[in-house]
Amino acid sequence: MKLDKFPSTNGPIDYSWVGKGPKPGPTVTFLAGLHGDEHASIEIANTLAAMICEGKVEAGQLKVALGNIDAILANKRFIKSNANRKFAMTGEPQNSEEARVLELQMFLQGTHLLLDGHNTVNPVEKPFVAVPTIDSLKNITIPGIQNVTLEEVLQVLGIPTILKGKALLEEGGSPVYADTFVMQHGGVGVTIEAGWMKDPKTQMVQEGIINLLKYLGTIEGEPTPTDVTLSVWNATKQVMGDTGFKIKKFNGLHVVEAGTTIATISDEQTCRDSGKTEVVVDEESMIIFPKKGNVKPGQMACILAQKVKE
Ligand SMILES: [Zn+2]
Repeated sequence: MKLDKFPSTNGPIDYSWVGKGPKPGPTVTFLAGLHGDEHASIEIANTLAAMICEGKVEAGQLKVALGNIDAILANKRFIKSNANRKFAMTGEPQNSEEARVLELQMFLQGTHLLLDGHNTVNPVEKPFVAVPTIDSLKNITIPGIQNVTLEEVLQVLGIPTILKGKALLEEGGSPVYADTFVMQHGGVGVTIEAGWMKDPKTQMVQEGIINLLKYLGTIEGEPTPTDVTLSVWNATKQVMGDTGFKIKKFNGLHVVEAGTTIATISDEQTCRDSGKTEVVVDEESMIIFPKKGNVKPGQMACILAQKVKE
């Protein structure tokens, strides 16, 4: 993707923009293009960067940065290092993508609320949001502003489907993602999946983000009230592949009833070891980030989540 339409950088690292308002308020950071072929966030970053350069920030700070620059220019997910999963990195970078992640770690310092923009690789009908927490969204407040909960933020954003829970994290729960990195540094991180990469819902997500910036006082204007009822799903389990393991075909965020077979196992040894020839869910579950077809040992086939009843 060409980046010649962006205003010139005014932030501390390449392709970053920082706007400071005269009034106190939270520091809101928008990251775009940590995966270089997910275009929605890059277009939204352009809009927000222009707002910063036009002096529209009224309170606190609005910070915008592009993620994996090399990958964006090459229109690839990543080239050598998946920047999205490198936020636990310390020490010497192995390539320019890792060097960029170190710059972004610095850029994220002091962030009260991070919005990290992505698109899904597999088809999904609507945008959704992922938050790396197991707590109730009512109990998490945004630092840098009084009495605003994560639940309110998500309602104003207007994207109803929310995924949270341990199984969204890498094994061991180490903060490999930008949102978990911000959580570890005292802020709140939110990952926005702006729909499928081949059918992105850029406009809808951009309107939600601008509405949220008005709500937080970051930019001027009355936010539009949303009557969104959040549907929160708790990700509890990573289903791993195996020899002879084949997952059935699912679109993103597909919900299956209890007792549904989601994968079959054809390898005799694997069946003997596990005592089963199919993988069946024992409660109503949402299938998140499903792979296609055969899934090898050590690879994740999908994540299972259950609806939170509050
Ligand atoms: Zn992504």
